Amino acid sequence: MAEYSALALLKNALTGNRDWKPAWRKPEPKPEYDVVVVGGGGHGLATAYYLAREHGITNVAVVEKGWLGSGNVGRNTTIVRSNYMLPANVRFYEHSMKLWENLSHELNYNVMFSQRGILNLAHTPSQADDFIRRGNAMLHDGADAVWLTPAEIAKKVPGLDVSAKARFPIVGGLLQPRAGTARHDAVAWGYARGADRLGVDILENCEVTGFLREGERVTGVATARGEIRAKKVAIAVAGSTGRVMKLAGIDRLPIESHVLQAFVSESLKPVIDTVVTFGAGHLYVSQSDKGGLVFGGDIDGYNSYAQRGNLPVVEEVMSEMASLFPGLAPVRLLRSWGGIMDMSMDGSPIITTGPLPGMFLNSGWCYGGFKATPASGWCFAWTIAKDAPHPLNAAFTLDRFHRGAVIDEKGQGATPRLH
Ligand SMILES: Cc1cc2nc3c(=O)[nH]c(=O)nc-3n(C[C@H](O)[C@H](O)[C@H](O)COP(=O)(O)OP(=O)(O)OC[C@H]3O[C@@H](n4cnc5c(N)ncnc54)[C@H](O)[C@@H]3O)c2cc1C
Repeated sequence: MAEYSALALLKNALTGNRDWKPAWRKPEPKPEYDVVVVGGGGHGLATAYYLAREHGITNVAVVEKGWLGSGNVGRNTTIVRSNYMLPANVRFYEHSMKLWENLSHELNYNVMFSQRGILNLAHTPSQADDFIRRGNAMLHDGADAVWLTPAEIAKKVPGLDVSAKARFPIVGGLLQPRAGTARHDAVAWGYARGADRLGVDILENCEVTGFLREGERVTGVATARGEIRAKKVAIAVAGSTGRVMKLAGIDRLPIESHVLQAFVSESLKPVIDTVVTFGAGHLYVSQSDKGGLVFGGDIDGYNSYAQRGNLPVVEEVMSEMASLFPGLAPVRLLRSWGGIMDMSMDGSPIITTGPLPGMFLNSGWCYGGFKATPASGWCFAWTIAKDAPHPLNAAFTLDRFHRGAVIDEKGQGATPRLH
C-alpha cells in the first residue's frame, strides 16, 4: 500500500484523485487465527497493530459488530492528557503521551495531534493545594505541569471570567502544556491501516454472538459471519463489556455502563487555543479546527446502553459554559450525541489476562479512554503476547477489586457514577 506523503497528495490532485486505494482490505474471515480481538474501536485496533508491530504476531483478526469508529472512539471530545496523581496512572498515561507524540509519523497517518495544553481551573484555595500536589506528583513521574496565576490565565484564555465577582472565582490553574487533542476518527483509521498493512484482518459487520469453549477455556468466537477459532481471544468492547462478557457466562464485573454526552457549537473564529476544564462542576471545552466549541460534562448518572442522553445534563453543561465564559452565552449549539461508558468501580482501567483461560480483557475506561488508546493497545498486546502484564499495566488487574488494591484517583470510593 502506498505511503501517504505531500508528493502523493500532489500527484493524486493532478490525476483527479482516482488512484487512492482503500486504507484497509475487506477480507473474508479465516477459520482460525492466533488472536481474535473483539471490538474495532481505538483500543482493539491499537492492540492488533502492536501485536503485529511489536511482537510479530500477524495472524490476527479484529472483529467489529458495526463499522470502525461507530463506538466511543468516534464519539469522544478528543482530549489527550497525562495529568494524573497516582503513580500507576501517571506512568501509564505518560507512556501513552510519548506514543502520541510520534503517532502520526509512526502510522504514516495524520492523527492531528495538537499539543495545545490542558488547563484545570481551581476555584478555592484547597482545590489549588490539591492541584499543586497533583502537579508535583506529575513532575515526579516524568510528566509536565505548570501552575498559573489568575493573571497568567487571563492572558492565556482571554474569554474567561477571572474577575473576583465571577460566580466561581478562579484562584489559579494547573496547566499541562504537552496535553491537547487529536482527531478521533483518524486515530481509528490510522491504526486500522497500520494493522492491515502488517497483515491483520479487519472484519467489520461481524458481531460476536457467543464464545466457543472447551471446558473453561475460550477457543474462539461465534459471529454473524460464522465461527472463528482462536488460540487467544481478547475483548476490547468498552461500553459493551457487560453484554459481551455475559455471552461467556460472566455476569458479575466491577463495571457499570453509563451514557456520556458531548456537544459542539456553531463555528466561531479562534477563541480558545487550549483545553479548559472547570473545577467547580464538570465541564471541559476546546475548539476544533473547524471552529466549533467541543465540550462535555458528567455522565447522565444512571445505567444505560443508550447512545443518547437526557436534558438535565444538557442544561447543567450549558449553564457551566455560560458561567465560565459569559461572552459565549449567545453561541448556538449545533449537535449533541452520547456514548456508552465502561465505568469501573475505582475510575481506573482493567488490562488483564483472563478472567477465563484463553481470554484477555481490556475495559474500565470511564470517560478517559481515548487518550489511553496507544498505551492501552501497547500494554494489551504485550499482555496477550506474553500471557502476563507489562509493569505499566501490572496494577490494572481485575483481582485488585478482590484484594482491595483499588487505584482510586479521585478518592471517591466504589461509586462508578462519581468517577
Ligand atoms: C461523549 C464522550 C466523550 C469522551 N471524551 C473523551 C476525552 O475527551 N478524552 C478521552 O481520553 N476519552 C474520552 N472519552 C472516552 C473514550 O472515547 C473511550 O474510553 C474509548 O474510546 C473506549 O475505547 P474504544 O475506542 O476501544 O471504544 P469503542 O470505540 O466504543 O470500541 C468498542 C467497539 O466494540 C464494538 N462491539 C461491541 N460489542 C461487540 C460485539 N458483540 N461484537 C463485536 N464488536 C462489538 C463496538 O461496536 C465498538 O466499535 C469520551 C467518550 C464519550 C462517549
